[in-house]
Amino acid sequence: MASKFLVLGEVRDGSLRNVSFEAIGAAKVAADGGEVVGVLIGDSVQALGVELIQYGADRVVVVEDAKLAQYTSDGFSQALLAVIESENPDGLIIGHTSLGKDLAPKVAGKLEAGLISDVTSLEVAGGNTVFTRPIYSGKAFEKKIVTGGLVFATIRPNNIEPLQKDESRSGDVVTLSANITDLRTIIKDVVRKASEGVDLSEAKVIISGGRGVKSAEGFEPLKELAEVLGAAVGASRGACDADYCDYSLQIGQTGKVVTPDLYIACGISGAIQHLAGMSNSKVIVAINKDPEANIFNVADYGIVGDLFEVVPLLTEEFKKLKV
Ligand code: FAD
Repeated sequence: MASKFLVLGEVRDGSLRNVSFEAIGAAKVAADGGEVVGVLIGDSVQALGVELIQYGADRVVVVEDAKLAQYTSDGFSQALLAVIESENPDGLIIGHTSLGKDLAPKVAGKLEAGLISDVTSLEVAGGNTVFTRPIYSGKAFEKKIVTGGLVFATIRPNNIEPLQKDESRSGDVVTLSANITDLRTIIKDVVRKASEGVDLSEAKVIISGGRGVKSAEGFEPLKELAEVLGAAVGASRGACDADYCDYSLQIGQTGKVVTPDLYIACGISGAIQHLAGMSNSKVIVAINKDPEANIFNVADYGIVGDLFEVVPLLTEEFKKLKV
């Protein structure tokens, strides 16, 4: 049955994050021929509305306020609630990002709506939108529906295909005036700890280092390979605990969950908690000097060897391919 879905466009450093376009792709499926309405919240974000339309939104509602220049759950939830009240949708889809994980449960809770988090695919069956999400650290998948009310879903980045961008598409981008009351949280400064360059949670290629890199300097060959491949650098908790890198790079059960096209694990043993964050990657390459390392059980390609010999060789070969 055709329905109306909202999609929150997530803005970072003045640009829309890719997961916003994936969320539109998901909303198109969920709306089943109905309307998909993009939502933009921030300060001076209206100009980004056209891009949401080019990726498939039918129209866009914008809430702008100087108090929304930085994300706060307080301010954004007020803005989103105003949009929901005005649009009366059947559902809302947001990326399963730090922002989405914070905002979706807060607003869903206020509205007593159903929330399905970390969705990796969806379909319409029997008149319901059926959402699939991983459970037990990615070992199994469950299918869920919400009946009789508003449904919220957060989608895992890099899993749902966005629609092809169509620059000829047009649609209304209108501003909704919402009364954003004084915020209880004031952001004074944002200090970025994450890796420079490619965003880990949206990266198509990730080069990850474990305790096998042996030091902070040991990450250098991985960074060089990442540079050549346009990849992001990630890490196991072992590497983070040993202070070889920042915890913002941690992938796994208590770190980030990633699903790149290519994941290269260097000097990572393959503990279950690490696999929980990367085992759904499309192609996994493992480099480890221990042929019995558990990481080889999930790897599509395994290289038994010293990462300090193998990684520079890969970098040289990929450089040749780029020339
Ligand atoms: P190790 O297990 O020490 O493995 C290092 C590997 O490097 C070995 O396989 C070794 O053969 C190889 N090696 C050494 N030298 C070289 C070399 N020169 N060349 C090639 N290979 C080499 N872990 C996570 O990663 N993410 C999580 O989110 C996470 N959450 C956790 C939550 C809980 C509640 C708990 C209890 C644990 C969690 N862990 C997590 C920790 C996890 O159990 C492992 O301890 C951790 O993943 C091990 O990191 P590692 O593979 O880098 O180190």
